[in-house]
Amino acid sequence: MEETTVKKKYVVSYNRETCTGALKCMGIHPELWKKDSDNKAVLRNGAQSSHDPKLFTRVIDENELKSYKESALICPVYAIDVLDFDTAKSVLNINPTKEKDKDNVPVIRAHYDSRKEWQMDPKGFFTVKIFPEEQMIRARYYGEDHALKFVIEGSNSEEIYNTIMREKLVSTFQHAAYVGNELMKAEIAMKKNLPYVQDDPLP
Ligand code: SF4
Repeated sequence: MEETTVKKKYVVSYNRETCTGALKCMGIHPELWKKDSDNKAVLRNGAQSSHDPKLFTRVIDENELKSYKESALICPVYAIDVLDFDTAKSVLNINPTKEKDKDNVPVIRAHYDSRKEWQMDPKGFFTVKIFPEEQMIRARYYGEDHALKFVIEGSNSEEIYNTIMREKLVSTFQHAAYVGNELMKAEIAMKKNLPYVQDDPLP
């Protein structure tokens, strides 16, 4: 006899009143979310709660859990929750700080001394240049032997730094942050018709 496995169930709960319409959920999972005429999210195949009209819910199984959890975790205002069907407890495992408590967390004053704290990434380095006539930014990647290995080109910083990460061309947090910062400066300069010189502040 064939064995049937019962899939665990979860409830996606979406609060339309809390939603501010940033549409990040839809950005990563358009198959689960769409927007309405108020630019708020709509839970696809969701049903409006009869006892609380601002809530929309949908029962899902574990195959869909990952995508809904990602949608919930990217929502900046926690308008989405995913609950265990049996216990009605959230499975997001987060403990967001309430607005009223945010002033009570410790503040770390930022500082940086490049002479003492800068460290060479053993993976190599990048040069960044803009090509406004093509609306293109090009990042040249030099390996540890200082030989040019790749040119990564794109029209915005996000696609370039994500490509750099995907290709694993940086190996330290400091270098990743540096490259992201330079690429964003390059993108702003290109879009605002400003000169861009790597490592210099924007004019
Ligand atoms: S990410 Fe959150 S706030 Fe933004 S549209 Fe989706 S549910 Fe609404």
